[in-house]
Amino acid sequence: MDLSGKTAVVTGGSRGIGREICIELAKRGANVVLCARSAEGAAQETAALCEAARAESPAPAEGEPQNGQDPRTIVVACNVADAGDVKTLMETARRTFGRIDILVNNAGITKDGLLMRMKEEDFDAVINTNLKGAFLCMKEVSGVMMRQRYGRIVNISSVVGIHGNAGQMNYAASKAGVIGMTKSMARELGSRGITVNAVAPGFIDTDMTAALAPDTREKMAEQIPLKRIGTPQDVAKAVAFLASDEAAYITGQVLSVDGGMYT
Ligand code: NAP
Repeated sequence: MDLSGKTAVVTGGSRGIGREICIELAKRGANVVLCARSAEGAAQETAALCEAARAESPAPAEGEPQNGQDPRTIVVACNVADAGDVKTLMETARRTFGRIDILVNNAGITKDGLLMRMKEEDFDAVINTNLKGAFLCMKEVSGVMMRQRYGRIVNISSVVGIHGNAGQMNYAASKAGVIGMTKSMARELGSRGITVNAVAPGFIDTDMTAALAPDTREKMAEQIPLKRIGTPQDVAKAVAFLASDEAAYITGQVLSVDGGMYT
């Protein structure tokens, strides 16, 4: 899966799954534009890890910057729920690298609670980041990809969006919505050479799941057919595949990366 010459925008690239997606795409030769709410700290660490991964990757195509020269990872501060921020993100990517081939809508948050106790602002915050954020990014990037007659959009959903989960009604609604958007966009954009797919991770070891008690984690792992909690790398490799030319005839699909949790 060679991505040299391609430019990828990854939202929520500062930590967890998003960070590994950035590294995986960079390792395969892509220019990476990553965003998080702050462009400092963790986001800059991701950029440094991308540059290190790229230095070990195969030589880039002719005409492309050579490995180790011209940093080909840039960080943009962007709240994906803000249309103005998203516009700036995509304009920066296009101005810097000339095109946008890959968009990974990964930024996401949880604000869990049972329905009776869920505050309206917690419902809105999760929908605005997870669902509206993906909408804004796809809307902003679609014109660029249509003109190129090429694009790969990968939306990060969740097994919770397929199966639901008590205490996560807002999150499940946002992630189910991401699947609906993915399938609709696949139909709208297919004739322009743009594929749109979703990845639905199961239980993955990141900050998002860190609050769970060790014995709860062990019990959950025991119920997974592959007998382990997933890693961000497990998800990143699936994303890299869907973002590659090898996945050219796959669109509108939801790929579960859950260790067989729901088989
Ligand atoms: P994480 O470790 O909490 O990281 C979330 C990322 O999203 C961070 O980079 C965060 O950056 C960014 N982010 C949050 N709100 C943002 C906003 N408004 N604008 C821009 N960036 C924002 O989460 P994760 O576990 O890696 O999850 C990544 C994605 O996978 C999410 O969509 C999540 O729903 C999904 N997922 C995770 C699991 C799991 O088990 N971990 C399972 C299924 C699906 P800043 O905080 O620096 O802004």
